[in-house]
This record gives sequence, C-alpha cells and structure tokens, in this order.
Amino acid sequence: MTKVAKETHGFKTEVKQLLHLMINALYSNEEIFLRELISNAADAADKLRFEGIKNSDWFEGDSELTIGIEFDKKARTITVKDNGIGMSRDEVMQNLGTIARSGTQEFMNQLTGDQAKDRQLIGQFGVGFYSAFIIADKVTVLTRRAGLKPEEGVKWESAGQGEFTVKTLSKEKRGTEIIMHLKKDKDEYLDEFRLRNIVSKYSDHINIPVKMRIEETAESDDENAEPTVTTREEVVNKADALWTLPKSEISEEQYQEFYKHVAHDFDDSLAWAHNKVEGKYEYTTLLYIPKRAPFDLYQANKPRGLKLYVKRVFIMDDAEQFLPNYLRFVRGVIDSADLPLNVSREILQSNRVVDSIRGAVVKRVLDTLKGLAKTDSDQYAAFWKEFGQVIKEGPAEDFANRESILELLRFSSTHAESEQQTVSLQDYFDRCPKEQKKIYYIAADTYNAARHSPHLEVFRKKGIEVLVLFDRIDEWLMSHLTDYKGKPFQSIAVGDISDIEFGDEKEKEAHQKHLEEKEKTYADMLAKVKNALGERVSKVRLTERLTTSPSCIVAEQGQMTSQMERIMRAAGQQVQSNPILELNAEHVLVQRLNDEPNDSLFSDLSNVLLDQAILAEGGQLDDPASFIRKFNELVVNIAK
Ligand code: ADP
Ligand code: MG
Repeated sequence: MTKVAKETHGFKTEVKQLLHLMINALYSNEEIFLRELISNAADAADKLRFEGIKNSDWFEGDSELTIGIEFDKKARTITVKDNGIGMSRDEVMQNLGTIARSGTQEFMNQLTGDQAKDRQLIGQFGVGFYSAFIIADKVTVLTRRAGLKPEEGVKWESAGQGEFTVKTLSKEKRGTEIIMHLKKDKDEYLDEFRLRNIVSKYSDHINIPVKMRIEETAESDDENAEPTVTTREEVVNKADALWTLPKSEISEEQYQEFYKHVAHDFDDSLAWAHNKVEGKYEYTTLLYIPKRAPFDLYQANKPRGLKLYVKRVFIMDDAEQFLPNYLRFVRGVIDSADLPLNVSREILQSNRVVDSIRGAVVKRVLDTLKGLAKTDSDQYAAFWKEFGQVIKEGPAEDFANRESILELLRFSSTHAESEQQTVSLQDYFDRCPKEQKKIYYIAADTYNAARHSPHLEVFRKKGIEVLVLFDRIDEWLMSHLTDYKGKPFQSIAVGDISDIEFGDEKEKEAHQKHLEEKEKTYADMLAKVKNALGERVSKVRLTERLTTSPSCIVAEQGQMTSQMERIMRAAGQQVQSNPILELNAEHVLVQRLNDEPNDSLFSDLSNVLLDQAILAEGGQLDDPASFIRKFNELVVNIAK
C-alpha cells in the first residue's frame, strides 16, 4: 500500500526559495521560531475545542488541551507538542509541502534582498512553520488528525533542502509533535531558562497553557551513588487570553506579540483598539490595523475577518460578518457572551447580536484611524499608502458612516503639486475662500495625465485648488459623494465654464457679457466646426477654461466624464456619449481656423483640434493614423 510506504517529495519551488529567505531574513531574531510553533499549536487546540463540540469522541477522553515543550540535551532536540486537531496525510502534504496560500509568485516578485523589507513580506504569507529551519537542520513532524484511527498517523521529515518525506505510521495520541534537530551552533536553546524566557516574551497570553518538561538531577549525599534524575512538568506561560485582561495590565509588547499570533504576521501592527462592552450585549473586541496590506487584499473570496470566540471558546477564524468589505484588512478578536456556542456562519449572516457588534467594530476602527491621522500624520500617510484604495470603497458600501470615512480620505491636489495623496477634505475646505461654492476635482488614468489636463489651466491661473485623482476607483468614489460640509464636489471636466466662480457677481456678469460678444464674433466658425465634426461632438463652443491649449472636451453637467466612460467600457458596458468641444479663441490655431478659407483644410484642422483634446484627456482615437496624417499635413502647411 503506497500510503504506508515512505514517499519522498520535492518542495514546491517557492518553498525552497522561501526557506532560504527565511533563514537569511530572520536570523537576527531566530528565537521567534518558538513563537510560531506555539502559535500553530494554539490554533490547533482552538480548532479541536470547537470541532469537539460536535464530535465529542474526538477528544478520546483527553479534553484538557495543552502545549508541551521538551528539550533533550543528549539528542540535541527541542520538541513542541500539542493535543490539538492534528493533521491527516493529505493535510500534511498540503500544509507543509506548499505555501498554504496562493499568490506565491507575486510574493517572490516582491522580494528585494533587503532583509528588513523581506522580513515584513514573510508575514504576509503565513509561513511560520518553516521558521523551525532557522535553528534546525532536520525537522520531524509526527501527527494524527483527531477523529482518525491511531494507524492513520503521519511522519513528515525534512532537512529543509528541497525535499521532504512522508510516511504513514501508528500514533497513539492525536495531535502534533514537532521535533527540531538543532544545527551545530544552536545549543543555547537546550536550556530551561532560555526557553522559559522566550515563552513568556512571546506567548504568555495565548489562551492555552504551555507546559515544559523539566529534568532535575538530585545530588546525593553518597558520593558514589548515581545522581537521581526526576522530571516534572510546569506551566510556563500565564495562559490567560490577552483580550480578557484589563488594558492597564497589558504592555505594548504584549499587544504586539498577540497581534502576531492572531494575524500570522511577523511585523508589529500599526495601531489597535481594545474595548469591553457591557450593556444590552456583552462582548470584548481587540482590533488591530496591520502595517502592511496582505498580497491578496484585492483577490475576491479570500478568507478574511476576525477570530470569533464565545465566552473564550474559539468558534471560528475569518468571521467576515463583523467587518464591512472596505475594512477587510482589520485583524483581531471578538469574544461575545451572547452568541450560542454552536453558532454557524449561516446564523452569523443575519443575527441581531452580530449586527450590533459589527456596528461598534466599524466605529472603533474608524475612530482609531481618525485618531492616528490626528496624532501621527507620518504613520497615517503610511497607512493610507497601503490601504487608502480600500478605504475609498467605503462611501459606496457604508452610507451610515460616510461622514467619518470622508475625514479619512486623502488626495493629491494642485496645492501640493505632488503625487503623494496627503490632502484631506478638511485641508481643502480650510484653504479655499468661503465664497467658493464647490470642491473641484479632476480625474484621469495617471497622475501626469490628470495634472497636465487642459481643464486645469484656468484653475491654475486663478489659483483655485483642484483635487487631482488618478486611482482607478476614484471616479466611482466621487459618484458616491455629494458634498463635504455643504460644498458639493464638482468635476472640472464637466459642464459650462460659467459654473465656475470668478469672484463677485459683477465680475461674473462682465465675464458673461464678454463671452457672449465673443460667441457672436465666432458664431460662423463654431457652426462650421460643428458641421465638419458632425456626430463626433454634441456641441462646439468657446471657452475660458484654457490658457495655453487650443481645445478641450467636456461633458454636459450630469453626464459621465470621458474618464468614467472609459472605466465603464473597460468593465464591458456599452457607453457612447458625444462630448462638447470647447475652443480657446485666443489660441493661434483657433485664429488660424477662423481665417481658413479652404473647406477641406478647415475640416482637417477641426478634426485635429478635437483629436488632440481627446488625447490630452488620456482618451483613445478611433483612427489615430488619420490624426497623424492630418496633423503632419498641417505642420507642413504652416511651415510653408
Ligand atoms: P499559518 O499558521 O499562517 O497558516 P504556518 O506555516 O505557521 O502558517 O502553518 C501552516 C499550516 O500547517 C497551518 O495553517 C496548519 O494548517 C498546519 N499546522 C501547522 N502546525 C500545526 C499543528 N501543530 N497542528 C495542526 N496543524 C498545524
Ligand atoms: Mg502559523
């Protein structure tokens, strides 16, 4: 039977690379191997505690879940064992032969060779088990899944050099034993006090007792007698679930170590919020904001969410019902006294207790972020860089908290003239004159396309600040926003120029009159251009929007901007609306058009003015070759 035979397998390529990387990146902090193994053992105990509610025979009469640490000076091994859920042969292959999560290629592409950076990356991928190879040159795993027969135990072994073996064997006790055969220079870990220290530093407050087997040699009075060796077990961590302790008793380090356990991260968190609520419902939340986005933040159907406990009993990982999608990066624990122990994902879908906790969780997270923005703008900028795009999904998803989310948004703007998104709506609001009725923005595919847009010319000239948007999600975001503190948002690529403020009423009137006169002067030309362009445009008019460009296209107020149309088309929607062409009468090309007697040249120049307006917006031409031909003819003509 192949199952019994010892099989040798190669690690997936990415595991090989990863092992190498881990050993290099983590060697300065190698003691964390123990934290990772204890973290896994605690997860395994939690899983059994929960599964055992339905399958009480899985406990096999041993329901006191513990983690054990042993060391053997002679054999030079350290063993971490648990009586948790264990693994079947298939699970061993899956969990210890590949990187558990997908997307490893992206992971490898991100590696920089810089140890500090790579160490942060490791945390994004949940690869804690392999940290055993930092100190061991051979790792043996003996495991049996709870509920399977003793004969269905599995032995996994590897030297971390590209291969591992798996073999079926009999294992009397369920659960997992990880035996690390230490590398030559790692003897320091064969020491009770060293190990105790590591446990209390990193694993004091996981909610499972960690027991250490300690050998004691009793000196005898009789010099010729053999010394007697006794062993005893001692619990070496506090094993009180961290979230149940009063805040005042928890140090920053302890919060951070607990974060690493729940989030499977190797790096510290950015911020956290810990709250106990006693009212209609009773619950505790401990919520963390990670420093870095996981690589699969944008992949749909990825497991995410919080760890759910009911009265300290682990119920499930990734309880996504407690977080809206736009806060999917939040990690942490919820412990409820009101949910039943046998609660299922289905029950969580529609449950009053869940709704109430979820509402509070969202408020806490938003408040934590607001607090961070206020107290530490550098940290907040770092947060925004990682998660800003996800927060931008918020206004569409969470109407009730829109005001709060608006406070969190950051944009690039013509004020800062930088691609960094650092301007808050409040900054804009505080800077703009009281009389300014709207908050102006421009959206394009890239920062450069947006900031060089001809639409900005008049705003620059008049010193009116414009938000510069260039993330894919921005147009969609703006379509869900109405106003900030009473000032509506206005795309500057939409509508009539007279919508835009020019000082007081008198100035506005004078401006309007000036424009009307100009329209009269150029009425014939405008009609001829419309005629030449036909269906390509809905209207042709003069503009005050431009200072250096001859032409631009705009959408009618209330219509989609051309940027929005492109996004819709990319999403497979059929959209086609004809823009308004606006001409800058001051520009020499428009003057030239006005003076052009030849109909065919007039038509060519009209088309060129429209085509370049489309290009300047980041749009695409139906017939680029024809544009180039006409443009070149024009240049040649002018040169004559
Ligand atoms: P992570 O803990 O982030 O999932 P690890 O590399 O630490 O990543 O562990 C990989 C997987 O191996 C775990 O998800 C789990 O399924 C399995 N595993 C590791 N240790 C144990 C254990 N002691 N008992 C049961 N399963 C384990
Ligand atoms: Mg782990």
